[in-house]
Amino acid sequence: MNIKGIHKTSLIDYPGKISSVIFTGGCNLRCGYCHNPDLACNSCNLQSYSNDDALSFIQKRRKLIDGITISGGEPTLARNIDRFILSVKSLSLSVKIDTNGLNPGVIRRLVDHGLVDYVAIDIKTSPEKYLFLTGKPVDFQRIVETVNIVRDSGIEYEMRTTCIPDYVTLQDFAGIKRAIGQVDRYYLQQFVNTVTLDESFNHYTPYPAATLYEFKKYIETFARICEIRGL
Ligand code: SF4
Repeated sequence: MNIKGIHKTSLIDYPGKISSVIFTGGCNLRCGYCHNPDLACNSCNLQSYSNDDALSFIQKRRKLIDGITISGGEPTLARNIDRFILSVKSLSLSVKIDTNGLNPGVIRRLVDHGLVDYVAIDIKTSPEKYLFLTGKPVDFQRIVETVNIVRDSGIEYEMRTTCIPDYVTLQDFAGIKRAIGQVDRYYLQQFVNTVTLDESFNHYTPYPAATLYEFKKYIETFARICEIRGL
């Protein structure tokens, strides 16, 4: 599954659960603010773990964790993801997947086969600004499709946006609201200007807390719950 990292225990990646985190290599976007540039762009230079390595690690920890989070990179690009998750589920563990939402077909398959319990979808910015922030032309309808799949599925899900100054504004949230409609949980993430894929993003000063609270108030007009992470 092109596993490039395993994090033993996380209390923050899977809401309400203790999880181990599996990182897959490779990504179909090139977000300037990406905090895992090696994982996204140069994963062939990183140490690899076989599915069996990861499964035996998870098996040893099964009494200490509630589930696993599969993150990246972009996990929906990983080959054999279904088979890997099936083995994890056989250990009675929950599975959360983090995605940029561009592979609705994979999410549809995982949901339909009962292989995923929680989906976190990154909404980077409004459809109009995606190209500028992610470095790739994006068909935003694919992300809307992924949102529709998880919203209709009855499983737990969240949307999340990292608040990059200039690239994510109140007007952008209005564009997101128009595109995706009412959702359950929405998390705003404070931008951290340390390691970034594009070094020019290191010069952006994160928004003050007051701006994030302003965004939160607006998001509460289309999300049942909105919380801020990283303040
Ligand atoms: S932040 Fe962007 S480039 Fe980095 S892993 Fe996520 S989707 Fe890929």
